[in-house]
Amino acid sequence: MKSPVYLDDHATTRVDPRVLEAMLPYFTEKFGNAASRGHAFGWVADKAVERAREQVAAAIGAQAAEVVFTSGATESDNLAIKGALEAYTQRGDHVVTVTTEHKAVLDTCQHLERTGRARVTYVAPRPDGLVDLDAVAAAIEPRTVLVAVMAANNEVGVLQPLEDLGALCRSREVLFFTDAAQAAGKVPIDVEAQRIDLLALSGHKVYGPKGVGALFVRRRAPRVRLGAQQHGGGHERGMRSGTLDVPGIVGLGVALDLARREQAEEALRVARLRDRLWAGLKARVPGVRLNGHAERRLPGNLNVTFRGVQGEALMNAARDVAVSSGAACSSADNEPSHVLRALGLPDEEVVGSIRFGLGRFTTEEEVDFAVDHVARGVERLREVSGAAADYHEGR
Ligand SMILES: *Cc1c(COP(=O)(O)O)cnc(C)c1O
Repeated sequence: MKSPVYLDDHATTRVDPRVLEAMLPYFTEKFGNAASRGHAFGWVADKAVERAREQVAAAIGAQAAEVVFTSGATESDNLAIKGALEAYTQRGDHVVTVTTEHKAVLDTCQHLERTGRARVTYVAPRPDGLVDLDAVAAAIEPRTVLVAVMAANNEVGVLQPLEDLGALCRSREVLFFTDAAQAAGKVPIDVEAQRIDLLALSGHKVYGPKGVGALFVRRRAPRVRLGAQQHGGGHERGMRSGTLDVPGIVGLGVALDLARREQAEEALRVARLRDRLWAGLKARVPGVRLNGHAERRLPGNLNVTFRGVQGEALMNAARDVAVSSGAACSSADNEPSHVLRALGLPDEEVVGSIRFGLGRFTTEEEVDFAVDHVARGVERLREVSGAAADYHEGR
């Protein structure tokens, strides 16, 4: 086993070797531009893109023509929300979302508010992270265009009730958008059964490459319109101009195809490893608590609070285990986790929280290594702070 051990699959995942292998020819001999309609180089690239479109569609129960390729889930989130507001100005100007959404959704909403293009209602989740259907229903107004609720949370892994939300939105005739960057390929998704109108996903969260993603845009019942956010050439049915990243798109397609085939079996295996991690931590570390709903969560997610410990200090003390801390979970901004705060954790517990992300390449050996290192790290930190005895009594 090599260390450090990677347990941060919500941040990004390793590219599956089968994905990489499928991509490679599209950098070299099959380098054509998919928009070159006049020669074989273009046709080969276009054929590969259309095959990937079918693979992405199949993974979410959609039609190929409903898939728009983008640079990732951030762009897909922006396109879905800004594009819908732009296309449906007649219908309204209001968005309903949840305080635990990804920053790609929340920052987009805040930008639209600041520029006077939308009004936004931010619904708070329950303490277990699940969104209350009645709260969402109550937030919908006559001028609501769109409800944006993520499929799986990137910090606490909580799975939102997509089918109920979809049924609610359909009955109220508002669009239902879900950011499924963490959920796609990890849990079953069916845009028909779940009545999803717009869905964002990303390659690098599902063992595909970084910098490529997709937006599902429903074509029938209802036919969803979007204002393009990037102009220049009319690629992707005019919704997203720009030369397509053919190798990346091929990788995204294969990644989702593999996930679709292997998801059920993989979810069981990954959940077993996650449960082993949680059992190990509970056995070794007093004063540890789970964040988010215990069952309705991603198979590979474990988010815990170690009372009396700073997550950053713990990451330093257990440096051979790569995880994320609640002190700076959402990547670039280095702010304490808005998700854990929204679940009602006080700041001292937010900064004592650690997110573990397990996945396709995680081994039992790595889990045991992580339990041991983290347990010893917590112990050391509590000894230094003189708090160790408190937690041994109170467990
Ligand atoms: C990672 C992630 C994103 C951003 O995806 P990129 O492809 O990195 O832009 C958006 N939403 C969620 C839930 C994510 O986990």
